[in-house]
Amino acid sequence: MALHRFSAIRGHRAQIGALERLVLRGTPGHAYLFEGPEGVGKDVVAQALLARLACTSPDPATAEPCGHCPSCAAFARGEHPDVTRLERDGATIKIDQVRNALKRLRYEPVVGSIKGLIVESAELLREEAANAMLKTLEEPSGQTVFILVTSKPQLLLDTIRSRCQVLRFAPLSPDDVAALLVAEGHAAEMAGPASALAEGSMTLGRTLCDAARMAFVDHVAEYALRLGLEAPSEAAAFVEGLGGRLIGIRPDEGDAKGKDLVRADLPWILEILRSVWRDALMVATGMPAESLPHARSATGLRALAARVEPGKLVAAIDATQRLEDKLVLNPNPKLAMTAVLVEAAVHLRA
Ligand SMILES: [Zn+2]
Repeated sequence: MALHRFSAIRGHRAQIGALERLVLRGTPGHAYLFEGPEGVGKDVVAQALLARLACTSPDPATAEPCGHCPSCAAFARGEHPDVTRLERDGATIKIDQVRNALKRLRYEPVVGSIKGLIVESAELLREEAANAMLKTLEEPSGQTVFILVTSKPQLLLDTIRSRCQVLRFAPLSPDDVAALLVAEGHAAEMAGPASALAEGSMTLGRTLCDAARMAFVDHVAEYALRLGLEAPSEAAAFVEGLGGRLIGIRPDEGDAKGKDLVRADLPWILEILRSVWRDALMVATGMPAESLPHARSATGLRALAARVEPGKLVAAIDATQRLEDKLVLNPNPKLAMTAVLVEAAVHLRA
């Protein structure tokens, strides 16, 4: 927990704008559901909302906390006596956890204007625990604000959703991911390519800011840059070696651990290829290669942009997209990957 301000949060301007309007009109709700992809900052927005609502001397003209009252000081210290966070205990959120959290909400706020409860992974509230929470959601006290957060809204019980104001969050832009990764202390030369591959998620972005994973990205990126210079038959050998390089670095731990390429590996590899060719396309339109996610490969990007027409780069990108679109149908990841590289190599032929 920290003292967050809406104005300092990157992205989500529409969602934050809606919350700011509710706060400024003096009509904030008492139960919110923040749903959207993992790692986009839903929890930070939740903390910013609670910080303003709990602030004891807010400026009525802004939706920001004052920064110096006892409640703001508690947020800044990272421990707020009036804010409870409910997290999974094993596979679910258990009824005893819910009961304990609700008990804490019965007392008057200690330092702030309201009491707050943040429920992480709210989809893990199953029937019994959900029912305990529902009773409280149905009989709101003006002093309590619930913020339920989920990245799997499809698993959430309808009874819970129907009692909350729902705010949908979208993935972050690559620029926002890159800036946030750098702000967290990651090297810019890793944050760039990681942001291009992170699908708008800081969770995935952080996972990719790792030397071994970045070495894999570089390996695929190098191949993407020289594709078309060698015989298309080289593709099979390249694909054959990919699985072995993935051992221990697959971003999703649930995947196969072995040295064979599995279907779940393909989206990451296809995205690396695409991101390189997209960068080359940007270079072809006059963007400086140093400003792009794959800035480390600036020389290679310029060479590719110089030897291949933009339309051919688009065709290569389209080929990877077509494979991704039909991934569920394709039984053999190695063959599918090889086929797409052979097709791209024809487009990118020197
Ligand atoms: Zn304050």
